Amino acid sequence: MATNTKIEWTDTTWNPVRGCTKISPGCKHCYAEAFAERFRGVKGHPYERGFDIRLVWDKVLEPFSWTSSRMVFVNSMSDLFHPEVPDAFIIQIAKVMMEANWHTYQLLTKRSDRLKKLLNGALRFAAGAPHIWWGVSVENIKHGKPRIEHLRQTPAAVKFLSVEPLLEDLGTLDFSHINWVIVGGESGPGARPMQESWALNVLHYCRMYEVPFFFKQWGGVRKHKAGRHLQDRTFDEFPITSRNTMPPPSKRKAIAALLGVQLADAR
Ligand code: SF4
Repeated sequence: MATNTKIEWTDTTWNPVRGCTKISPGCKHCYAEAFAERFRGVKGHPYERGFDIRLVWDKVLEPFSWTSSRMVFVNSMSDLFHPEVPDAFIIQIAKVMMEANWHTYQLLTKRSDRLKKLLNGALRFAAGAPHIWWGVSVENIKHGKPRIEHLRQTPAAVKFLSVEPLLEDLGTLDFSHINWVIVGGESGPGARPMQESWALNVLHYCRMYEVPFFFKQWGGVRKHKAGRHLQDRTFDEFPITSRNTMPPPSKRKAIAALLGVQLADAR
């Protein structure tokens, strides 16, 4: 499988938006910000403008250029539902995902109120597609639990939680209508440690609600040393969804060309 990412639960990242702003404690050590700011002012670099938010129109049709079917993390370097990203742009991204339906897309946001509003409105056409997984981040009780409720109130066919960085014991959890849970500790300089009992608590509720559980990492300053075993084993569970057949290159090109004309009209 082709891959351009070290993220354990996906094959590829696709970033039609770059940049973001912090919204809750999970953002404190945002890896995307740290990466992007390293290149601020470097002429010609994709992150020449650091972590400032911008739409990247020439990336919008990128999924059509890949020669194999992939698991795609959409906007690993941003948050698609950030208030500075217009509804019209989000809708274009959803149209691409609906057309290039031989990939599986994973979207993750901390702006769950907007996710809820759009999936119940302008994005409803994409909500029920099993190849598009809609997710929210859950780092603590105060900010994370309301996001789970927002997600549950959407018609998304596949709903998932990224419980990372897990910053405290989340206590009692309701995972009804949730299809996948990822857990991970924070990594990098100044990483806030995750206790085993917090991760085991999430695993307990995954088992209770029969939700697939993916344990990403312990994290810490030396992430690879800490590894990704929880109680002497790895957890690499995924939701079971079918994959659409990838059409031949000529057909992919034709769909992309048609969509390209529509996108140009929409800009
Ligand atoms: S929402 Fe995500 S991308 Fe945006 S600042 Fe927070 S951690 Fe970074």
